[in-house]
Amino acid sequence: MALLVQKFGGSSVSDVDAIRRVAQRVVAAHQSGDDVAVVVSAMGDTTDDLLDLATQVSPNGPPERELDMLLTAGERISMALLAMAIQDLGTAARSFTGQQAGMRTDSSHGRARLLDVTPSRVAESLARGEVAIVAGFQGVSDDDDITTLGRGGSDTTAVALAAALNADVCEIYTDVDGLYTADPRIVPTASRVTRITIEETLEMAAHGAKILHLRAVEYARRFSVPLHVRSSFSDQEGTWILVDRPLTGGLHKDGTARHTPDTITTNTITTEDTMEDPLISGIAHDTSLAKITVVGVPDRPGAAAKVIGAVSTAGVSIDMIVQNVSTSPQGLSDISFTLPEVDGAVAVAAVRDLQQELGVEDVLYTSHVGKLSLIGAGLRSNPAVAQRMFVALAEAGINIEMISTSEIRISVITDQDVVEEAVRAVHSAFRLDADSTAVVYGGTGR
Ligand code: ADP
Ligand code: ASP
Ligand code: MG
Repeated sequence: MALLVQKFGGSSVSDVDAIRRVAQRVVAAHQSGDDVAVVVSAMGDTTDDLLDLATQVSPNGPPERELDMLLTAGERISMALLAMAIQDLGTAARSFTGQQAGMRTDSSHGRARLLDVTPSRVAESLARGEVAIVAGFQGVSDDDDITTLGRGGSDTTAVALAAALNADVCEIYTDVDGLYTADPRIVPTASRVTRITIEETLEMAAHGAKILHLRAVEYARRFSVPLHVRSSFSDQEGTWILVDRPLTGGLHKDGTARHTPDTITTNTITTEDTMEDPLISGIAHDTSLAKITVVGVPDRPGAAAKVIGAVSTAGVSIDMIVQNVSTSPQGLSDISFTLPEVDGAVAVAAVRDLQQELGVEDVLYTSHVGKLSLIGAGLRSNPAVAQRMFVALAEAGINIEMISTSEIRISVITDQDVVEEAVRAVHSAFRLDADSTAVVYGGTGR
């Protein structure tokens, strides 16, 4: 008998029929002898709709405590409805809010981090033979205030619950059949990846592939939780994300394997025919970035630390940083960095505050920046990969504004309007296209 945590995203529980379909899937797993804990997101676009309501009544920006109180209502609705639908099929089920499930967080509303996960009520419910259903995306702070984990945070709830319950697998049910070599909404011929390492998945999630919440992947790596990303709309095997622990995948009561990951072969695609060649896992893209260029920074120790320090003190996370070597007789250089577009105004103000003190010439702001990241094993040691990527972009007439690399990633910054075209060009240059078209079953991909 295995212990499964199954997480269903918003598009999987978007209406009554969808909730009933999910209930049938959960009950089938339960009847096959597994213990099943479920994590649910809010129905369809409920979170966006609630956010909309909040900004209508509070045009100057809703107070964050009340906003969290409001948004967590979305997940409470779906958890209760799913519990009812499962009970209607004759299986015992009980729903729990994040607080009841022991999800204790810090008090940063809107982006709370989990401090302690003690799902004793969930464990008791499972021990009674019930399906336990937990509201995703939410927790409670030490002040007993309700918090949210950030957009897409139900994935993190699911992985945290799986880690705390020592589940055999955490199944992430969504609206596509797994992790693809690119977002199938942008590249319909993207190939489904059958197995991928957690490190590569981290890079995909960190650089815009929003199929998994980045913190969920970090959590899965830290606590060695095997993940299986798959569709709630089909029975297709999805993508197995491999962690440093034997992949049991769970056994049926009679000892036969519920999943057969050993028989899965990788469809990671080689760019050439030899063993030494890099293995490309996929392409992630991000269309939520902006860029700041600080012009004429005195070329002396400590200047970059001041600029970057001011931005991070303002609470803005910086992604890519490029500083050119000064060639001017005055010894001035430029520093450019990318950041989330939503934080643009705060970051510009923080750097402008320093302008006088540092004697910086100008602070330039570019909104609407896009990023494309090619991810795979051994990229940096294969210069031919970068060359092939840059040639593909050049042939598509796409200008590269910045470049950064890691051992398993090459990222380029482009204009936001051309990033999707760039993804398609690089995807086909690496011959990642499948013969068939990926199915997108629902949702908006937002
Ligand atoms: P859920 O509501 O189930 O949490 P999300 O919308 O958060 O689902 O994530 C699923 C979406 O992620 C897909 O519909 C797809 O558009 C998008 N996506 C982005 N990159 C990828 C990728 N590499 N593989 C699969 N889906 C991706
Ligand atoms: N409902 C939340 C959101 O839309 C959390 C989630 O779906 O993961 O961001
Ligand atoms: Mg999601």
